[in-house]
Amino acid sequence: MRKYWVVELSEESKALFRNLAKEHGLNEEEIQDGLNSKIGDLDENEYLFGFRHCDNIQCKEFFNKGYMTEDSFTFCSSECAEKTVKEIEEKDYGEYIFFTDWEPELTY
Ligand SMILES: [Zn+2]
Repeated sequence: MRKYWVVELSEESKALFRNLAKEHGLNEEEIQDGLNSKIGDLDENEYLFGFRHCDNIQCKEFFNKGYMTEDSFTFCSSECAEKTVKEIEEKDYGEYIFFTDWEPELTY
């Protein structure tokens, strides 16, 4: 099943969004707006708050520690990466795909 809405994600994803949004000073109404929006509509928040969504279309979960590929796909787990990018092999870890964590963008 494809997920389009943040409400379709796991409690962990929603809690991550809620916590990061709170840290960035969003009020309860703004947080609710975010939770009620489409996953694809939060790109700006992803960069600002320092999280990403999984590019495995079956998954889409939010995370701030996960995998990034050279061509800027992001995945919550190696399983999701390997399901989506079929040619990933053991030797590609550290070469093409990297485990990383995302930090909030600095704003002044
Ligand atoms: Zn995933």
